[in-house]
Amino acid sequence: MKITVVGSMSTDFVVTTTIKPNQGETVFGEKFATAFGGKGANQAVAASRLGMEVAIAGAVGTDDFGVAILNNLIENGVDVACVERVTHAESGSAHIVLYDNDNSIIVIPAANNEVKPETIKKFTQQLLSSDLVILQNEIPQNTNEAIIDFCWEHGIKTLLNPAPARFIADEYIKKVTYLTPNEHESAIMFPDQSRSEILAKYPNKLVITLGAMGAIYHDGKKEEIVPAFEVQPVDTTGAGDTFNAAMATALLQGLKMSEALRFANLAAAISVQGFGAQGGMPTLEKMKEQSQ
Ligand code: ADP
Repeated sequence: MKITVVGSMSTDFVVTTTIKPNQGETVFGEKFATAFGGKGANQAVAASRLGMEVAIAGAVGTDDFGVAILNNLIENGVDVACVERVTHAESGSAHIVLYDNDNSIIVIPAANNEVKPETIKKFTQQLLSSDLVILQNEIPQNTNEAIIDFCWEHGIKTLLNPAPARFIADEYIKKVTYLTPNEHESAIMFPDQSRSEILAKYPNKLVITLGAMGAIYHDGKKEEIVPAFEVQPVDTTGAGDTFNAAMATALLQGLKMSEALRFANLAAAISVQGFGAQGGMPTLEKMKEQSQ
């Protein structure tokens, strides 16, 4: 089964410090590390590890970070032929400072903001050959809308993981096949409706992830919570990305929604036991070992 992810790819620059600098102050921190990130890249890597044929469409700059981002995707079996290398913007990055109980993050979308609606023309064949197209909210909204319209017109299934949260017109919610906010994103997207109301409004489409509680959806007759696996998490970064890729993988293989969410919960539970967004993402073999 073929999945195309249209989305962001970036490098995370992570600094750990025990002292928070005041304005104008310089302090010595503890550690520095880089990690591959961007919700698009994370979801593409997760789906590829689970055995799907995966391509990603998006943009990086011509800098060395872009080269490293592409190499990492290739090493993880993701087709990068539809990634544009733009000369007028640097590759996307996230600058993360980890304090004791307090994180701060600055995201510079850069090349990820250059994925414009007209660039779809360059990968229409890729979209047309896909069984499912996965989107997130880290590329411009009008590009997502153009892709949702295109897929709707051509009968291609879409999964929109609306992260980070932003307003999405009802027209587009109707056109996507699956919509997967976490609780926080769902509260921002649907401020005036209760969780039960929105779940009943979008049965078998809207899946709200509930962190360590699992995920909830409406099966057309009733709400169903599919509980998470009990694990000791070491790093929950990218849990949602693994969940989305695994849910897509399972649904494409014909599993029912409840079974697909169980599979997604297991993949995400394994992923939170490894460091970094991509560090803990399981392969299909690992999934088989853990489900026995
Ligand atoms: P996001 O990572 O997008 O904020 P959630 O926090 O809702 O989304 O987590 C997504 C999924 O990851 C959950 O539905 C669950 O399957 C899994 N997950 C997250 N945190 C844990 C945890 N502490 N233990 C087990 N599974 C978890």
